[in-house]
Parts: sequence; C-alpha cells; structure tokens
Amino acid sequence: MNASHRPLVKVGPGRSAGLGADRGADFGGILHHWSPAPVPRASLWLHGLGLLAVAAEPAVWPQVLGLVACNHALLGALMHPRSALLGPIMVRLPASQPRAVALTFDDGPDPAVTPRVLDLLDHAGARASFFAIGERAQRHGALLREVVRRGHTVENHSHRHRASFACGGLGALRREVVRAQQAIADATGVAPRCFRAPMGLRSPLLDPVLATEGLRLVAWTRRGYDTRPGDPRRVLDRLVSGLAGRDILLLHDGGLPNGAAGVPPVLAVLPALLARIAKAGLSAVSLAGVPSRPEAAGAAAGQ
Ligand SMILES: [Zn+2]
Repeated sequence: MNASHRPLVKVGPGRSAGLGADRGADFGGILHHWSPAPVPRASLWLHGLGLLAVAAEPAVWPQVLGLVACNHALLGALMHPRSALLGPIMVRLPASQPRAVALTFDDGPDPAVTPRVLDLLDHAGARASFFAIGERAQRHGALLREVVRRGHTVENHSHRHRASFACGGLGALRREVVRAQQAIADATGVAPRCFRAPMGLRSPLLDPVLATEGLRLVAWTRRGYDTRPGDPRRVLDRLVSGLAGRDILLLHDGGLPNGAAGVPPVLAVLPALLARIAKAGLSAVSLAGVPSRPEAAGAAAGQ
C-alpha cells in the first residue's frame, strides 16, 4: 500500500464524514477550507454586491440580473477540462518528477479489462492511477483491492459518472464526490487524494467541494480518445506525440467498445505505449508522488 495515500480511518466533520453530504452541503466547512481562485472570488463579490444593490434600490433588478447572467455565461465558458481559471488543476506532474509520466485510467474498475491492464503494467514494471467510479467500486471491491495491492493508486471519478455532473448544485456535487470517496475507501482502505470530473468538465462550484475533501483536481496533458471506436494506432499517436517527462496521459479501463483488433483499445495500445515511455528514458508512475492539496494538510492539522 502506498504510504502517500492516506488510509481512511475516520474523517472529521466537513471531510469524508461525508456522508454528511447526504444531509446537504456543509457551507461552513466549505468556507473554512476553500480559498477561491480570482475568477470565482470576483463572481462571489458580484453576486453579493448585486443583492445589496437590489436591496437598496429594487428598481435596478433588471440590470443586476443581466450582469449575473453575463457572469454565469462567462463561468460556463471557463469549464473547459484544462482551464485553471476556476481553481487549481493539475495538467502535468510537478517539477520534482522530471522523468516521470503518469498513466491514468478512467471509468473502471471493469472485471473484463482492469485485470488485463494490471498484468500489462506488471510486465513492464510500471505503475498507474485508476480513477474509479464509486458505483463500480462498490460492485468490484476485490478488484480495486488488487489494484492497490499491486502498487497502483485508486482515485475518485465521481459516484455515478453522470453526464450532467457539471450542472449540479453544491449539494449534488458534494454527494457525488463524497459517496465515491467513501465507496473507494471502503473497498481499498485508502482514501483517494485526486479527483477527475466526468467528461473532464468542471463546475464553478466544484473547487470548494474538492477543497473540503482535500482532493486535487487532475486533468491530463494528452488523452488517447480510446473510448471511440477506431484504429488503436491513432490512439497511440495521440498519446506519444510530444511525449515528455511530467506528462499525465489519459486512457480508460471501463466503458469501452471493442476496437478494430477485437479488444478494447487500451489493451491494444498499452504494450506499445509502455515501450515508448521506456525507450524515451522515462518511467511510468502513479499519482502517488503528487503532493497533497495544501488545504488538506491545514484541515487535518486543524481537526
Ligand atoms: Zn470518465
């Protein structure tokens, strides 16, 4: 078990206690742990000043409503998977890992695919991180324990992986994050430290939820688009084009079609990808070396 992942013993209020989240959002806890990025901070000020303006002079409500609508349109435009304007996001490994490439697999675990991915990784002496869906973690707990036993990490990819995830309110987002966090911790005994949003789309409300749970938002440097039927060679080309140390690569070990070779693309691509990483003098690693979110250390210390 990797020491840098924190074992889930019992978590305090405002954290994976979670399941507190089923009672709704803990706004006090969120405000305690969250330090907003400039764009959400400005947005919060705009909403507050708008409310004050309408309270002082009700006739200005159409102008205030127009401003707030523009603000929401702007926030929507910033939901791009790799945008850092709504809060911290990791698209490359830290500078302390100059010769490492992080392999990440989303949407599992899948009993038909994940064990074969594990065997391929073992064969190459590689490590990886698996962004698991909470509902799948509940169904395939033994498989997730095997992932951890073989030296990989399991991270949080929401509980149900709904396409509407990014449209949810604060309470809905928190339930998705916390339920998956608990399901994975129940299965493996280790609480994830990283989160990746379904489809990569981030809500402006996501960062405060992740701050409360001490989770880092992790996107990717390049992705293979391996959930689309097509030629595995194109998947490989997308992943290795410009391959360099600190890359975070995205593949999938769940929800996959069979590719042209009659197997899910990840199985056709992974041996060649691992060989290319080794040939470039790089090491395939998990996200275990990524430092914890700074607020997480503070939160733990304060509890
Ligand atoms: Zn996904």
